[in-house]
Amino acid sequence: MHRKLFHNIYEVDVAYPELKNTFASYVILGDRIVIIDPGPVNFHENLVNALESIGVSQRDHIYIALTHIHPDHYGAASKLVKEFCNAKILAHPRGIKHLMNVDYLWDSAKKVLGAIANIFGKPDPITEDRIIELRDSMLIEISDNSLMRVIFTPGHATHHVSYFLENERIMFLGDSGGLYINDSLAPTTPFPFNYDKAIRSIMKMLGFQPEYVAYTHFGMHNDATKKLLEYMGQLYLWFNICKQNCTDSKEFLKEILRVDHETNEFLNKNKDNPVLSGAVMHSIYGFIKYLEYIQEKT
Ligand SMILES: [Zn+2]
Repeated sequence: MHRKLFHNIYEVDVAYPELKNTFASYVILGDRIVIIDPGPVNFHENLVNALESIGVSQRDHIYIALTHIHPDHYGAASKLVKEFCNAKILAHPRGIKHLMNVDYLWDSAKKVLGAIANIFGKPDPITEDRIIELRDSMLIEISDNSLMRVIFTPGHATHHVSYFLENERIMFLGDSGGLYINDSLAPTTPFPFNYDKAIRSIMKMLGFQPEYVAYTHFGMHNDATKKLLEYMGQLYLWFNICKQNCTDSKEFLKEILRVDHETNEFLNKNKDNPVLSGAVMHSIYGFIKYLEYIQEKT
């Protein structure tokens, strides 16, 4: 299922209808076609069907722009490069080795996510000749008058990238702005999350003065500054709760449900969605491990 956001920009709900409003992929049409975060490998046929109805052909020149190498964001890219002969994958230099050899990240995804990893599926390895290495701040030319800026935004993952579409002022967040589903916001901070880097990345994105934010989980929204500041506040709240209750994840969760009304509402609304409710639990673990990490350093 897909919908038009701007005359040349589409949002595809790749896991519709089983897990609707959970994984968004974005398609930007121009001299080059850009697909941001194609989603899990298990849903790649839904994306291919959407691309067909949008009018993308198998010979088009395509950039598959990855925000990071987690299976829910990039898996389908490993199938798309086989079907679309002129497609190239844009990835952070630290992610490239994981695209070529998937076992390490897949094993750690299974360890961190458990059964949820099987909902996403194991991606295929991708050969080096299909990968373009990104640099921070580089500009991707979509058409003569349409440019997309690469912004390195570590925190959720060390190799996380956001993309800023300059004319439309849309910031494609991947997971750098949290989970925003049905008007509720919750952190996505799985191990090895880095709080300090995540906050700096949000400030970096605010510096571009985006008008819209496009979440992979899920959808495009206006009031970009407000949404990014809200996420920064939520991370700050979690960090402070973690400092008080960090040894016990049950106590941590209890305190979050008491003081963070957004996350409380998020969990209530999404209790039947294993991916989204699981993500909040993994976020608690990510914060606890981050606090251990900084305490070891000092
Ligand atoms: Zn994600």
